[in-house]
Amino acid sequence: MLEVLEDLTLITRRRFFCTGTGAALLLPRADVLGAEAKYDLIIKGGRVIDPSRKLNTIHDVAIANGRIMATAPNISADSTETIDARGKLVVPGLIDIHTHATRATDRAALCLADGVTGLIDAGSQGADRIGEAIAMAKAPPQPCRVLINIGRGGVLPEGDTMDINRADVGAAPQAIERNREMIAGVKARLSRDVAGPNDFEVLRRAQEVASMFHLPVMIHMGQTVSPLAQLLPILKPGDIVTHMFAPPPNSIIDDAGHIVPEVMAARRRGIRFDLGNGRNGHLRLDIAERVLQDGFLPDTLSTDWTPEGRAAQVIDFPNVMSKFLTLGMSGAGDVRHPLS
Ligand SMILES: [Zn+2]
Repeated sequence: MLEVLEDLTLITRRRFFCTGTGAALLLPRADVLGAEAKYDLIIKGGRVIDPSRKLNTIHDVAIANGRIMATAPNISADSTETIDARGKLVVPGLIDIHTHATRATDRAALCLADGVTGLIDAGSQGADRIGEAIAMAKAPPQPCRVLINIGRGGVLPEGDTMDINRADVGAAPQAIERNREMIAGVKARLSRDVAGPNDFEVLRRAQEVASMFHLPVMIHMGQTVSPLAQLLPILKPGDIVTHMFAPPPNSIIDDAGHIVPEVMAARRRGIRFDLGNGRNGHLRLDIAERVLQDGFLPDTLSTDWTPEGRAAQVIDFPNVMSKFLTLGMSGAGDVRHPLS
């Protein structure tokens, strides 16, 4: 979820941002103290979380010439601008691994305004129109990659792979070959209304294509025809299960509220479990509460961002994060870094 502070210039150029349980986005308040101020900006009193340094404490952050110069409990030097971040989280740029931001040109830029400095479009397009998604992914200022939908028509209202012929193991590799540097994996959407009874075969074909390029597969789980216990064994280490808090049928907990053994086994094998908030009932809070009580935490939080989601349920990444603070997650210590 949290990006390592590797490119400090990148982060500060877009302005450091703060998030709180109210999902506030703060921009620097002009507070001009003179041209000789030591720093350009000091963010005061926020809880600074930096997984790369295992930092999770109340600190000030001082920035000059586009770089973070210091973090310390109390920085008293002059600065051109200051932000009062008390009661807020101060975090590195966020990475959102499940969005649909390539559906129009300005979408990734909207995500950037939410503090998302790197993102993945998770299967909006398949082989037939992958060029459109790639062009959109190259447009925004922040890094953006795409997962290719194994359904060659991408996300379709009638179901991406309800016609199994759309899961085309001939077309997808050609599309990946042409755009290898921009395609980060293969997406298989497996719900009853997307793949119907084809879910197992769709996943098998997605895995066949992904293995040609050593790419991960992301599955959209929940409300599948096949039990999750039959689908998970086809996943390999590094693959991702998104919509992990989807409701039954075939959620990650059984009728008694216990996490199904195959889910635990999948995590032990290195399968990642991702939130994928979305607007379509993918996040059931009672399921999330139950799963979190068992200590089964998400590997990553993500929004399943769409333009429509910006108006309802998702809103933005800080809002999604805030839901999990409300559900009892404490912050950086709970979430593994995606690269760890
Ligand atoms: Zn999605």
